[in-house]
Amino acid sequence: MNIAIIGAGLAGLTCAYELRDTGAKVDVYEATDRIGGKLHTVAFEGGPTDMGAEAFLARRTDAVEFFRELGLGDSLMEPSGLRSLVWVDGEARQLPTGGVMGIPSTSETVKHLVSEETAARIDAEGETGFEWEIGGDVNVGALVRERYGDEVVDNIVSALLGGVYSCTADDLGLRATVPQLAGELDRMAADGLVTLSGAVANLERSRREMPTGHGAVFNAFKEGYQEVYEALAEQSGADIYIDAFISGIEPAPNGGFKLKGGEDTVYDHVIVAVPAPTAALLLKPLAPEAAESLKSVKLANSVVVGMRFANDEGLPQNSGVLVANGAEDVTAKAFTFSSRKWPHLAERGGALVRASFGRFGDTIAMSADEDDLVDWALDDLKTITGFDGREAGLEEIYVQRWLGGLPRFDEHHLATVAEVRGALEGLDGISVTGAWAAGVGVPAVVADARVVAAAVAKQLQT
Ligand SMILES: Cc1cc2nc3c(=O)[nH]c(=O)nc-3n(C[C@H](O)[C@H](O)[C@H](O)COP(=O)(O)OP(=O)(O)OC[C@H]3O[C@@H](n4cnc5c(N)ncnc54)[C@H](O)[C@@H]3O)c2cc1C
Repeated sequence: MNIAIIGAGLAGLTCAYELRDTGAKVDVYEATDRIGGKLHTVAFEGGPTDMGAEAFLARRTDAVEFFRELGLGDSLMEPSGLRSLVWVDGEARQLPTGGVMGIPSTSETVKHLVSEETAARIDAEGETGFEWEIGGDVNVGALVRERYGDEVVDNIVSALLGGVYSCTADDLGLRATVPQLAGELDRMAADGLVTLSGAVANLERSRREMPTGHGAVFNAFKEGYQEVYEALAEQSGADIYIDAFISGIEPAPNGGFKLKGGEDTVYDHVIVAVPAPTAALLLKPLAPEAAESLKSVKLANSVVVGMRFANDEGLPQNSGVLVANGAEDVTAKAFTFSSRKWPHLAERGGALVRASFGRFGDTIAMSADEDDLVDWALDDLKTITGFDGREAGLEEIYVQRWLGGLPRFDEHHLATVAEVRGALEGLDGISVTGAWAAGVGVPAVVADARVVAAAVAKQLQT
């Protein structure tokens, strides 16, 4: 049995690892000259440093267990727990705790970030309900704007979602990005009055009632994500071809598939683990309906500028800062003070800071000059924190552009994924996985890839 996997990102490599004991020969094809995709650890002098994903949601115990199974248990690092800031109206203020993805249940936690008028509106929201279609989806920005007003969206929710999805709240769907809130609104709709403040308060209450003591919410890897993609690649036993761009999947005359740009092998099964637009191109001749749906998934571009300074004096005692949407005095959308956020990085000495630029629909990631990006990163850091990176001794810089870095999960996205998977059901020998299908977080990508690989392994046995 021969299996081809197109794409050596987290999804493709996880599939390869999961198929290691099936007896099948597994070939993984990667278009670029390195494996890992959006996981990319670069060699800074101080030590390996992530320029793509840097952490994962450790509350997802399935992910933690998976990484332990890979032998990476001792590499899992916890954050310092320092709070984050948000840059609003020319001031760095505390990012609110509580709420759900920045959406508060009362004005109490956000009154330092919104006007008195907005605070009063939040507190009065529970007085009138709104119509909610059970199982439906809405735009996050539109919902919160309608219930609480623009300041909550621009100053808090978009800043938080922008950090995760490279999109503002106005480009994202609620069920795809804040599923627990959509679920709570479903539950309220079944009972009667639906309010946003009530739904958030219910979620806060159940969070308080959850047993504590399960460790940090997020974890990182001591030597960066290279530990994960190298372990997956090594332990999979698969043949991995880099610089191998696959431009087509063709049915072979006697069954199975051949790959344009791949080895001269007939594959019994092909797993497509590439971003949605590329998956659409590859699937078009085999499954035109699935390809058509996939084409509607748009991607957000972003840039990460990693900087190492000799000295950390004056860098705030915070994990980082998010920038309110629409801030005109800075260009960056967020900074992670990595050496403050992660004690294992602080041990290296000096300061490590990541600046992020670019949200869905803007062109900064594609068009900005590298020198400009570094200048903006240093200028914005000084404006927001007072930390003068030029004086602190800028020792290393790495500029990583992520063109098409993240799929946009708008309010139609979940329906699109269901359409694609539905359209592929009748097509034997082809599976799809990846961030567009699963959710962008590392645990979600791993979980979906494992399910897909398990289904392929089962088919091989029959
Ligand atoms: C800047 C940034 C920060 C992030 N931070 C976090 C974080 O802190 N925590 C978290 O949980 N998640 C984070 N994420 C999200 C997470 O990293 C991604 O969702 C995940 O890594 C995607 O994995 P994937 O395998 O689906 O896709 P990819 O990583 O995109 O892998 C797909 C691979 O397919 C290859 N490919 C494409 N076309 C072809 C072709 N025709 N032939 C062969 N190969 C092809 C690509 O080169 C690529 O290597 C971040 C993402 C970005 C961009």
